[in-house]
Amino acid sequence: MRLLVVEDETRLAAALQRGLQAEGFAVDVAHDGESGLQLAREGSYDAIVLDVMLPRLSGYRVVQALRADENWVPVLMLSAKDGEYDQADGLDVGADDYLTKPFSYVVLLARLRALLRRGAPERPAVLSCGGLELDPASRRVARDGTEIALTPREFALLEYLLRRADEVVSKTEILEHVWDQYYDGDPNVVEVYVGYLRRKVDVPFGRRSLVTVRGAGYRLARDEG
Ligand code: CA
Repeated sequence: MRLLVVEDETRLAAALQRGLQAEGFAVDVAHDGESGLQLAREGSYDAIVLDVMLPRLSGYRVVQALRADENWVPVLMLSAKDGEYDQADGLDVGADDYLTKPFSYVVLLARLRALLRRGAPERPAVLSCGGLELDPASRRVARDGTEIALTPREFALLEYLLRRADEVVSKTEILEHVWDQYYDGDPNVVEVYVGYLRRKVDVPFGRRSLVTVRGAGYRLARDEG
């Protein structure tokens, strides 16, 4: 089994390499995101241990770039415990598991073995509805084959509506899932963002798939008739 460790703390990287080699793994090491990504693209690894905070290219960008290449190598992310980034973000961009620093080597080994047993994950399903396609892994959105650029919030909103296509979804539900449950700003922000989305995914294509259901919420219509 061949592993790639991407970690800029050289002592930690060396300790991981030694420890994992002692377990019988072949281990390559990169000390920044750019060279890590390059190695990951060239080499055929069974798993990657990837730090989040890296020079040149963050761990998030590395895993996003790999998934955009349709490279599904299992990735275990090491996140710093500084609150700036959280584990959910890592899983969002396509990591398979995460550990918060400082971590126990024994736990890291157990998690790695679990990932290796599972193997490369299946490509996550592309969500689609009425010619609209959203790929949660590569973060791409297209309508009738034309790629659409969305902001992260617009993307999250569209993803949520696509997951519940043809259902009426209330503003409150949208706020809870796309903003967060502690959001206490103006609930009309949902309306505003639905408007942004319409201008990107409906209007240019002459479609009306984002339907307002008076007094109830919104519905992403599969067939707007
Ligand atoms: Ca680091």
